[in-house]
Amino acid sequence: MYFIDPHVHMISRVTDDYERMARMGCLAISEPAFWAGFDRSSAEGFRDYFRQLTDFEPKRAGWSGVQHFTWLCINAKEAENVSLAREVISLIPEFLDKPGVLGIGEIGLNKNSKNEATVFQEQVDFAMKTNELILIHTPHLQDKYKGTRMIVDMLLGDHRVDPERVLIDHVEEHTVAIAKEEGFWTAMTLYPTTKCTPSRAADIIEMYGDDRIMVNSAGDWGPSNPLAVPDFIREMKRRGHSEQKIRKIVYENPLEFFRQSRNFQFTPPVGMEGDSHLADSLNPSS
Ligand SMILES: [Zn+2]
Repeated sequence: MYFIDPHVHMISRVTDDYERMARMGCLAISEPAFWAGFDRSSAEGFRDYFRQLTDFEPKRAGWSGVQHFTWLCINAKEAENVSLAREVISLIPEFLDKPGVLGIGEIGLNKNSKNEATVFQEQVDFAMKTNELILIHTPHLQDKYKGTRMIVDMLLGDHRVDPERVLIDHVEEHTVAIAKEEGFWTAMTLYPTTKCTPSRAADIIEMYGDDRIMVNSAGDWGPSNPLAVPDFIREMKRRGHSEQKIRKIVYENPLEFFRQSRNFQFTPPVGMEGDSHLADSLNPSS
């Protein structure tokens, strides 16, 4: 089945991963700017990272026929350094009109600190002034519930924010409702060690429905699996869910959200340009 991985850090993956993803039906990915596993020594490190995301990485994805989209920001972890964060934000405008840049992300909270909240609100303000979509990172494990609540409250406190233009990522059983009930888009991250497994994600779909929700692998430099979305597809099929329902979650929902960005130029495969229900016979594997 064709799919889009809406959150995967391909700069940390090898070219073979693009190839394997393409073989499993991956048509496009979106890659948010993140913490690379180490703190950059200056804002110039981010300028080079943004060049990599907007220039080289789309070419590398293209070698396997995968379309590459991206998001720019300073991540929540390095946002602890407020002056560095402000310098990085000031670099973003020169990249915003590059092809494939979908918006500001992944911004959010890491340890729910005051500095992180300050930079988060400044990046939301920046996204509102530049009319960009927002992709949100919610904190890990014990900080997740409180952090998600703080993020949603900050977003709702800014009356310019339209929840339909915001995707709140890494939701789990105890946070999905906080985001969904306020009208935000949501995403579940399928991760081997923390976050959701494919079967937990399928449970959440069965409990909360398939509107405004998607799944991603968040493949990165940690133990992660860029083929996690096909694993989710298999789990959903095993449970007897229809092709149409699964396709909505792994293909149509990301498309619907991304289409709100002026830089989202997506070429669907032949036969899937219009009514996606025509596409059953075209699906390759899994
Ligand atoms: Zn991420």
